[in-house]
Amino acid sequence: MRAQVLVGPQVCRYCAAMSEPLVVIDKVNKHFGDLHVLKDIDLSIDKGEVVILIGPSGSGKSTLCRTINRLETFESGSITIDGKTLPDEGKELADLRADVGMVFQSFNLFAHKTILENVTLGPIKVRKTPKAEADKRALELLDRVGVAHQKDKYPAQLSGGQQQRVAIARSLAMNPKVMLFDEPTSALDPEMVNEVLDVMVQLAKEGMTMIVVTHEMGFARKAADKVVFLADGEIVESNTPNEFFSNPTSARAKDFLSKIL
Ligand code: ADP
Ligand code: MG
Repeated sequence: MRAQVLVGPQVCRYCAAMSEPLVVIDKVNKHFGDLHVLKDIDLSIDKGEVVILIGPSGSGKSTLCRTINRLETFESGSITIDGKTLPDEGKELADLRADVGMVFQSFNLFAHKTILENVTLGPIKVRKTPKAEADKRALELLDRVGVAHQKDKYPAQLSGGQQQRVAIARSLAMNPKVMLFDEPTSALDPEMVNEVLDVMVQLAKEGMTMIVVTHEMGFARKAADKVVFLADGEIVESNTPNEFFSNPTSARAKDFLSKIL
């Protein structure tokens, strides 16, 4: 019984309560030419916390995700992951980046590799995991997201929802400390949205630290600890899902919610 409690979500609520920050974004500024796309972004995400990033199109949500992963550079401020500050380049950056899983709107699977190979490639190449061990772990992960029976197929033979679940398994295979999701369901046919969200809700329950860009309010209410509302590159509001959805304080958040709810 006790062991179950230790691996269950309870322990992670405990971690969150201890306020142990895993990702710390401190006064980050970024421009694209003249466009000031991230303005003094301050955001701290605790271990096991699930943060939803929401905001109008063009407000900088994708750029912020890409910046956390250092797919984008930034001019000032710092980003720390598990106590380590993101360097500009080199092996240390590659190591830190491997700790940050990212799932995009488009699934980006390798078209000419099987589902199993898509999941084992990173562990074998980057983590130097022996193939037999990588295969075993990949099968466990594919089973967890419900597509183990598709392991020998190629991405094009799977539905969008199945491909996105493979993309999640592929990220998890690297044992990331934090997972970023940038609108993971917005390219899916409506009937496939829930099968992907269910996997994400499960991950959140298991205590994964997650930053999720999504307009899926059901998911936000079910899984999020915090909703961060971004507009014009600024964090305008940050609150619990209940408070944010029922009592938005800023005019911009009220306006945004009136359009999407
Ligand atoms: P969101 O994900 O919230 O819709 P983005 O982060 O994609 O917003 O974009 C924020 C702003 O930065 C937008 O005005 C967008 O046009 C601009 N932008 C994004 N990527 C680039 C880029 N590579 N070069 C120039 N401008 C960009
Ligand atoms: Mg975006």
